[in-house]
Amino acid sequence: MHEAHNDTWRVAVVGSGPSAFYTAEALFKAGVPGLQVDLFDRLPVPFGLVRGGVAPDHQNIKGVVKVYDRIAASPGFRFFGNVTIGRDLTVADLAAHYHQIVYAHGCESDTRLGVPGEELAGVHSATEFVGWYNAHPDHRDRTFDLAGARRVALVGNGNVAMDVARVLLAAPDLLAPTDIADHALAVLRRSRVHEVVLLGRRGPAQAAFSPKEIEEIAELPDVDVVVTAADATLDPLSADWLEREGARSQQRNVKFLQERAAMGPGTRPKRLVCRFLVAPTELSGEGGRLRQVRVQHMRLEADADGTPRPRPTGTDEVLAADLLFKAIGYRGVPLPGVPFDDRKGIVPNVDGRVVEGPGAAVRTGHYAAGWCKRGPTGLIGTNSLDAKATVTAMLADRGAGKALAPGSGDIVALLRQRGLDAVTWADWRRLDAWEQREGQARGKLRHKLPAIEQLLQVVHDLRRGAAG
Ligand code: NAP
Repeated sequence: MHEAHNDTWRVAVVGSGPSAFYTAEALFKAGVPGLQVDLFDRLPVPFGLVRGGVAPDHQNIKGVVKVYDRIAASPGFRFFGNVTIGRDLTVADLAAHYHQIVYAHGCESDTRLGVPGEELAGVHSATEFVGWYNAHPDHRDRTFDLAGARRVALVGNGNVAMDVARVLLAAPDLLAPTDIADHALAVLRRSRVHEVVLLGRRGPAQAAFSPKEIEEIAELPDVDVVVTAADATLDPLSADWLEREGARSQQRNVKFLQERAAMGPGTRPKRLVCRFLVAPTELSGEGGRLRQVRVQHMRLEADADGTPRPRPTGTDEVLAADLLFKAIGYRGVPLPGVPFDDRKGIVPNVDGRVVEGPGAAVRTGHYAAGWCKRGPTGLIGTNSLDAKATVTAMLADRGAGKALAPGSGDIVALLRQRGLDAVTWADWRRLDAWEQREGQARGKLRHKLPAIEQLLQVVHDLRRGAAG
């Protein structure tokens, strides 16, 4: 680890996912003299949701790390993996070493459904499942009884639900050559799941998935996407809303769903059934295991700004299901020493400047970017614009002399003093090459070890090899 000079403008970024890298990029592009940008991640590996969230069969999306590699090559960039802010280093430690701190730690938890039976065995969040198949250390020990399940209920119809449905329904041989976790592939090979029922609380015009994502499922060789004519029919409010203000993607979704309805149920061995205007109200089971999902039927009503919102009709229905996955959104987790808006699950901020609480004063020198700034929405690229906006505020504040007043010491000295085993970018580059070599030897793109201790062991071995 090389030490930074005293005359630098030092910025700490908490997190190393897309918004952290785009923040670094915007800072480097601004040409700030003597700029030092340090990214901290609690995991020994970088890239946040690109590594731990994007599905393994979406390597074209994961390929965005090439851009991050280029940003990391900027003089003044450093990575400190395996360092947890709020535990290994406090926010006060960062404030004593950096002129500005940017929180870009995303939304690591999930939204609760808030219905009886949510604690039953067989009820999971998409966050856990996605982390598990991506070898995320937090989720490596999860168990999903796919061998004992035939029908899965999937709540929410955003792109995370699409990823979960695709991984559950795709032939394991399609996933095997990717970077999927070995433990997940082994369980998926024994899966008996043949039907996933997607439960959307609003109608087809408000489905949250992107057209490309639902169409990709219909392209899987063994899978039919099934919609009944009743489910595909728009209510008058939605028909009018779609015509007046529906995005092109929403119009394409409706067209696709109506075409599928016209095609009938299909004959392929597995299916994704798209249901609309249904919301779970109770999960029940036998012997502590999920067996049934009670859903209430919804209708749409325009709210004050005309957006169609779901309201119960007063009728309901019971669906049999062996497993249920909640894909109803991620949620931020409070970071010790950093304000948290519990209602929104984000770091409270005004245009990226952290405030002490909603409506309260700005905390000078502290900023937020990405999902922990605005909530869990948008595609990876959305975080580039978002980070640029935060950096614009940072540069304006720097110009106005509004910043933290750090001492002259480098954080590396404190990391050493605390005996912290920080993973550097050079360590990661070696581990990255190792993962790809090991992957190749196994006939896949990358071999990801799921435990932090295992990752650190390889980092240490490779470090010794590089030194020797
Ligand atoms: P999302 O797009 O916001 O979808 C959340 C879904 O959950 C919506 O259908 C929402 O319905 C539903 N929902 C929320 N609360 C609910 C409740 N209490 N009961 C029933 N349903 C509920 O979120 P996401 O799927 O987690 O994705 C997060 C972001 O990452 C999105 O911007 C997504 O596009 C992006 N992403 C992209 C990709 C990709 O491009 N391949 C992959 C994964 C994620 P309402 O609409 O009615 O609120």
